[in-house]
Amino acid sequence: MGRPRKERRIELLPTVTNFKPAGVPMRNLDEIVLALEEMEAMRLFDMEGLDQGESAEKMGISRPTFHRLITRAHRKVATALWQGKALTIEGGSYRINHPHKEEMRQFICRQCSHEWEVPHGNGQSGRDMQCPECNSDTVMRQR
Ligand SMILES: [Zn+2]
Repeated sequence: MGRPRKERRIELLPTVTNFKPAGVPMRNLDEIVLALEEMEAMRLFDMEGLDQGESAEKMGISRPTFHRLITRAHRKVATALWQGKALTIEGGSYRINHPHKEEMRQFICRQCSHEWEVPHGNGQSGRDMQCPECNSDTVMRQR
């Protein structure tokens, strides 16, 4: 048996996990699977603009490992865009490193009173938030 692959730390899970070319039925498309740690690498490096060293540190991996990860992620996304393939974001070898409490936003559903937390900076605003319990969109931000 091989050595188990080292887990990468990730802070955020993407909210959208499927992309496909418009107007082409899924059954006619090849699918490329993007692992969650590859998405996290692109979030840190491409979106937040951290350098590879900082990104590697956040994910708890070495710089060369991060370099391989981000290179593979870019190749997959480029291939999907150029060759018109579907992208599915799932799986990988990671563990979720939740941000600190003060970085969380808290919401309450006015329909069913369910309360939950969402990290800052995941791109969701309170306005287009839905209750994860009852799917109501009458959602209020608590803090
Ligand atoms: Zn609700």
